[in-house]
Amino acid sequence: MEIRVGLGYDIHRTDASRPLFLGGVLHENEVGLLGHSDGDALLHAIADALLGATGRGDIGELFPDSDESLEGLDSSLIVKKAMNMVKKDGWSIGNIDAVIVCERPKILPLRTKIQQSLSTLLDIDISRISLKGKTAEKLGPIGEGKALEVMVTILMER
Ligand code: MG
Repeated sequence: MEIRVGLGYDIHRTDASRPLFLGGVLHENEVGLLGHSDGDALLHAIADALLGATGRGDIGELFPDSDESLEGLDSSLIVKKAMNMVKKDGWSIGNIDAVIVCERPKILPLRTKIQQSLSTLLDIDISRISLKGKTAEKLGPIGEGKALEVMVTILMER
């Protein structure tokens, strides 16, 4: 069996005037994320990890910021497109491990909902999806609540 590892990273500024989309889920009463699309940094990092592991480039190539038709885009479509590409190449996901660094929201209470959403989006068992929340200990822009950062590793098999 061939195995590959992929790394995904993303950071978005927070924006109180926008709704929060994280992991393909709308989280009520939380500060949103600025972005050309719906700002879903977790889905962006997952898509980049999928593409990176399998030599398929990155989401900046697939969905350029300069494309006005993509404004407000549902990031689920980004992940689905990336997943379809790598599936066609014969890849399946071994596991996903993600770290979300932010002051708000608290990730633990949202974890199951996000895992369920990712499980549906990627068509994999929930046991293969790990999600962890960390704060930045009040340090830097993330610690001041000005941004949310995501790191993802994905193991791919074929
Ligand atoms: Mg992004």
